[in-house]
Amino acid sequence: MRDSLSVVISAYNEGESVEALHKELVKVCKDLPLKNYELIFVDDGSKDDTYAKCRKLQQKDAHIKIVRLRRNFGHEIAMTAGMDYAKGEAVVFMDADLQHPPVYIKEMVKYWQEGMDIVLTKRVENKATSKVYDFCAWAFYKVLNFLSDTNIPAKTPDFRLIDRKFIDFLKQFNEHDRLFRGLLSWAMPNDKVKVIDFVAPERFAGCSKYNFRKSLTLALNSIVQFSTKPLRLSIYLGLLTALLSGILGLWVIVEHFVMKQPTPGYATIMTTVIFIGSVQLIVLGIIGEYIGKIHMEVKGRPLYIAEYNEKAEKNDK
Ligand code: UDP
Ligand code: MG
Repeated sequence: MRDSLSVVISAYNEGESVEALHKELVKVCKDLPLKNYELIFVDDGSKDDTYAKCRKLQQKDAHIKIVRLRRNFGHEIAMTAGMDYAKGEAVVFMDADLQHPPVYIKEMVKYWQEGMDIVLTKRVENKATSKVYDFCAWAFYKVLNFLSDTNIPAKTPDFRLIDRKFIDFLKQFNEHDRLFRGLLSWAMPNDKVKVIDFVAPERFAGCSKYNFRKSLTLALNSIVQFSTKPLRLSIYLGLLTALLSGILGLWVIVEHFVMKQPTPGYATIMTTVIFIGSVQLIVLGIIGEYIGKIHMEVKGRPLYIAEYNEKAEKNDK
């Protein structure tokens, strides 16, 4: 069929951008060769007027659906919520800050209608990030792909089109801690995937919601989600320290019996104890991360709590 589209926009404190984004989206979507389209704004527990602005837009545009999350659940869960409510034959995911220019949707839909199941975007340039940020992102993907069995390409943001077939696959994943692009790589076919290049402009307004701490948490969580290699590496680390302490022990024996030199005890013992202690703490920390994740997942709590507005209400201001 390939004649209806859902666009899922996750927004957290994007009150200054949603109107401009909606204007751009309508310009593009009204000319798409489709029978129908819907724009699903997911308000991820914003503290500003994002929700009120979306409701106002809904008064004028019946294509707008709003999913309002009860609190801030994070970008990945916001996209999941939007996907759950999407009815289109394909879903386009995008940010609300106009860093994912709506004009590329035309190209995505074209490739999809030509038979592609997934249309990814590759960010060839990001006007909003510094060289240091770009380097950290590059290093993160190198580490992630070294540790993970699933290849997760760098510079491939969440701006993408996915056919209904794969949306239905993705809906079967129920883990709380999720990296969407990783799940997609895991489920993605080798064929029928098209990648288009795009340049990400600066944010339209406001500032990035990913500070250093949030980015680091996402990076560490992603590694734990997609790999158990850190646990394996802990064993190697233990073996390495055992080897080092063995060599040190041998050296002490040689020093004492062969070279007949008195062994300086205090410093060597302290260094060894602190070294072994630190390694044990690191390994315990790694194990703890995994146990913590199991603890959170076995509770089986719902992924999010949301309110869904399919239509504008008369008494909305
Ligand atoms: N976002 C969200 N929930 C969050 C953080 C971000 O829905 O907890 C949205 C945000 O409003 C934006 C998109 O996710 O539309 C990407 O966030 P941002 O632009 O801050 O990230 P950056 O582009 O700087 O990586
Ligand atoms: Mg952004």
